[in-house]
Amino acid sequence: MQTALLPALRATSAGQEAERILRACVHCGFCTATCPTYQLLGDELDGPRGRIYQIKQVLEGHAPSRITQLHLDRCLLCRSCETTCPSGVQYGRLLEIGRELVDAQVSRPWRDRLLRQLLLRLIPHPRRVAALVKLANRLRFLLPNALARRIPRPKPDALPAPSGAHILLMLGGCVQAAFRPETNAAAGRVFGRLGIGLREVPGCCGAAAYHLGDRAGGLATVRRNIDAWWPLLEAGAEGMLINASGCGAFVKTYGDLLRGNSRYEEKAQKIAALARDPGEVLQQADLRSLGKPGQGCAIAFQSPCSLQHGQQLSGLVESLLTRLGFQLTPVPDAHLCCGSGGTYALLQPKLADQLRRRKLQALSQGKPDWIATANIGCQHHLGEKAPVPVLHWLELLDRRLRQT
Ligand code: SF4
Ligand code: SF4
Repeated sequence: MQTALLPALRATSAGQEAERILRACVHCGFCTATCPTYQLLGDELDGPRGRIYQIKQVLEGHAPSRITQLHLDRCLLCRSCETTCPSGVQYGRLLEIGRELVDAQVSRPWRDRLLRQLLLRLIPHPRRVAALVKLANRLRFLLPNALARRIPRPKPDALPAPSGAHILLMLGGCVQAAFRPETNAAAGRVFGRLGIGLREVPGCCGAAAYHLGDRAGGLATVRRNIDAWWPLLEAGAEGMLINASGCGAFVKTYGDLLRGNSRYEEKAQKIAALARDPGEVLQQADLRSLGKPGQGCAIAFQSPCSLQHGQQLSGLVESLLTRLGFQLTPVPDAHLCCGSGGTYALLQPKLADQLRRRKLQALSQGKPDWIATANIGCQHHLGEKAPVPVLHWLELLDRRLRQT
């Protein structure tokens, strides 16, 4: 694609990156067919090619409007388009650059600003989220059913003390820590059976603030994490396990996020290279000692976008679960997003609900006993309306192992 960026933008590293990405796009439109928002809305401007075109115009000096901002806001950042694109266009990175430019020039309605500020002050802080969840549970009896159903019911679950021949760090996370502490505890038990100890490091990965537009705040969290994790890795921890695939996809970009930062770039790249989804670790492990705990259990696996598109780990967890004896039911259109998209379900509730309805229909087609997923956002979003329980696959595996 030909480009004519504003000279002032071309002088910046973000401008140069955007130009490189734009030039890779040949405008073929293959990506449009696999874009969930294009499928729902049928508007080229709500598909990847149309969004790329709008960002290009802004980079070339056209003034963006509230409408431009809306088309960019409606993107889930699911990166299904990246998986489809034959030219390797890094759409997700281009969208981040485009959103930053547009947000700097277009003011949002006050309600949108307020909601984003509230989310920014809440989500990246696990203690605040946990306190809110606790309060909401106390007041559950006062709330209408539709709202009460949305409140998670976390159960305290102790993480086993890390021991074994290999020690990995495990991200505590923000929303997952408050909504579902059982997931990391289950991971500790499953990995413990294989001689791998997990040492939890608390806190948010930085994605929540970064994707809500507070890029400086998100990057500050990334630097703090590197300062906290680096000494533990130097002391012998062999890697970084991240059970929420959305956080995993973000930690794997730490090297890109801090490129050019002389103090942090090298450490950020090493940490990104050591980041692992649990499926990646278990794929390398000898699982024979676990037997076939999934036998007799039919599950539909919902592969989160951050796992299949963000981390490009399509099919990995599915094959592991099959090896462990689970019967996987067919899921049509598995590449499409469930509508959760980080904070998307809160910021774009109508579109998120339509996508959830479609996803639940697809997941229910094979009449599973459970729906398994790999990301807390999807788990909570789907779980609000799913006809069967929705669990992180590690938690489901742990339950079955404890029953055998
Ligand atoms: S992003 Fe890729 S698939 Fe989409 S129009 Fe550009 S080159 Fe084609
Ligand atoms: S990231 Fe997802 S929603 Fe956004 S343009 Fe790409 S496919 Fe569409």
